[in-house]
Amino acid sequence: MAELAAKPISELKSVGAGKRAENFAKFGITNLVELLTHYPRRWIDRTREAPIADAAEGVDVLVIGELRSVNGPPPGPRRGPSRVTATVADDSGRLSLVFFNQPYRAKQLKVGSLVAVFGRIGRFNGVKQMANPTIDVLGDPDERPRPIVAVYPQSEKVDLPSWTVLRAVDETLARCKPRGISDPLPESIRERCSLMGRGDALVGIHAPETFAHKEAARHRLAFDELLRVQLVLVMRKRAFERDSVGIRHVIGGELVRRFHAGLPYELTGAQRRVIGEIESDLASPTPMHRLLQGDVGAGKTLVAVSAMLVAVQGGHQGALMAPTEVLAEQHAAGIRRLLDGLRVPDEDTLDGERDVRVELLTSSVTAEKRRDILAGLADGKVDIAIGTHALIQDTVAFHSLGVVVVDEQHRFGVEQRAALRAKGVDGGAVPDVLVMTATPIPRTAAMTVYGDLDVSVLDEKPPGRTPIVTRSADGPEAEEEVWSDVRAQVAAGRQVYVVCPLIEESEKLEVASAEETVARLSSTELTGLRIGLLHGRMSSADKEAVMDRFRRGDTDVLVATTVIEVGVDVPNATVMVILDADRFGIAQLHQLRGRVGRGRHASNCWLVTTPSDSADELIPDSNPRIDALVESDDGFYLAEVDLELRGEGTLMNKDQKGRSDLKLASLRRDRELVQLARETAHEIVDSDPELADNEELRQELTLFLRPEDEEFLFKS
Ligand code: ADP
Ligand code: MG
Repeated sequence: MAELAAKPISELKSVGAGKRAENFAKFGITNLVELLTHYPRRWIDRTREAPIADAAEGVDVLVIGELRSVNGPPPGPRRGPSRVTATVADDSGRLSLVFFNQPYRAKQLKVGSLVAVFGRIGRFNGVKQMANPTIDVLGDPDERPRPIVAVYPQSEKVDLPSWTVLRAVDETLARCKPRGISDPLPESIRERCSLMGRGDALVGIHAPETFAHKEAARHRLAFDELLRVQLVLVMRKRAFERDSVGIRHVIGGELVRRFHAGLPYELTGAQRRVIGEIESDLASPTPMHRLLQGDVGAGKTLVAVSAMLVAVQGGHQGALMAPTEVLAEQHAAGIRRLLDGLRVPDEDTLDGERDVRVELLTSSVTAEKRRDILAGLADGKVDIAIGTHALIQDTVAFHSLGVVVVDEQHRFGVEQRAALRAKGVDGGAVPDVLVMTATPIPRTAAMTVYGDLDVSVLDEKPPGRTPIVTRSADGPEAEEEVWSDVRAQVAAGRQVYVVCPLIEESEKLEVASAEETVARLSSTELTGLRIGLLHGRMSSADKEAVMDRFRRGDTDVLVATTVIEVGVDVPNATVMVILDADRFGIAQLHQLRGRVGRGRHASNCWLVTTPSDSADELIPDSNPRIDALVESDDGFYLAEVDLELRGEGTLMNKDQKGRSDLKLASLRRDRELVQLARETAHEIVDSDPELADNEELRQELTLFLRPEDEEFLFKS
């Protein structure tokens, strides 16, 4: 592979150093490894192809033929959907094609080229026609016949026809043939996991003889992608465990026992289990690095507090970092309530003990208060610190930071986690880190995205929740039903949230739209109700005041921008109305919905959408995200759907780019393969921590991960 990576694509006879090489470069293909890992996006099975004359109406068929004519949309102002028409012919007959709303087809399709067309045969004005078929340009009509034709990704901007790629790949594979392509994977592993050889797999993916061959090839190459990622993650985790000394916390202490005994409810089974998992990490000399996943309302706060109290019990401190000040404030208030009356030993006091001291450190704390808190953190009188990333500023020194909880991981960078870990000063001991997220991701995806963390799952909600009925409202009539439900609930003494359209480009516009919503609702549908407004541009004090009024029941309807997404807990609120719901992602909608259904009254969630006005569009109006939310209230199920709809790319934020090496592997479809790759990575790293005996594998890690990815993956 290293040798192939050193060979520029221009060395291929079929490419050369000119324009063609430039076009390859625009696709990110500059050398032969990049070429061989530029995988087809589809494979066309020529054995299934039908002569046009035999293609029956109403049946899906694959037709391969030459383009005879292509006609673009007529010039002038557009009326209705754009239309591109074309004719394709084979030895048996002709077929007309029509593409709606795909104006680029006029440029893409060139008369004289060979195309594969897949779709359902219909009839239009007495002529056989296919509307919006799948179409792939294969190349020249005299292309070498093969049973299965690989089709490569196309771009509207770059002229790199599929057959050009195919020829370059053919040439490369032919030139590799005499020497063979070496395989970095030990024979024993290959056999046990039933994986074909690397060289065979590269042939199978680009020029398969059969579909079984292609599938086996994909399997092998996808495994390689997953293995590389897992190797890096496992190596990093092991290195971290090896190089850092943690605190051996003493578990089973009095403080945690009293805390649990004083709760007004029983722990759920899942809370018990997860607290157990965390405590065994805390007791071990290796620093904890654990992810806690739990749906909204699963009771993560309690678990976090238990973990921090283990530290406090042993004379250490706990810290909780939240992504926003509002959330930090709410955590502080909630945690103070939870810890109310709980005492810790303190020799400096008269009766030898004092209340557990919880402090909130945010940028809005006064200078004087801040000095006081900082002093308390430094001398250990503050037991639990809660704040935003202000907590990891250099000026903040802890007496002995034992447990760090990071809430809402997806907004926290790895660097920030690392910085917080560095805050541990206890003789160089590294604090234990618990990362909490309310955005569940599927287990195998978690293995990859958070592969360097251990994972705990709170998969059981506290009892006594009433299920939330979710409905979608599309169009003015449906919306009337929404507001009448709101009025009825308010009349019954309940409260309501209305979430305003999300306007990502501008907070200012978002605020304006929220103000407009308040004005509209109070003068029309919700006249006479007490309506409050909450948005992100208000001062913390104003926000708090609005929230207080709502909590006390002095406001019936709270109109808010997405600032209420996190943390708000008002059991009497039973209706959640989300306007322009189709602008939100699944996870966000699910979070928002989790704001209701927290009390004993039945709750409703309305997802309001506006029907699109282009009635002539061929694509039916349906939103799979909305449908998924209507169907299910299970965060893990929704996470699966989300993954399915958006693909894995979106799971990974900027600093997780290293995982974007996944071209063939799918975290969703290849769950077993992810598992297999993880086990294999463990096996390899456990016997060869630095990959000293697996030089080729080690080389590939550097080859396939870009320097910045590698830096990210290998550091911390
Ligand atoms: P999360 O942070 O996972 O969204 P919270 O920790 O905010 O959830 O808990 C949600 C609500 O459930 C809180 O009001 C909390 O007091 C309550 N709660 C937590 N654990 C239990 C339990 N075991 N039984 C009953 N209620 C619980
Ligand atoms: Mg919470």
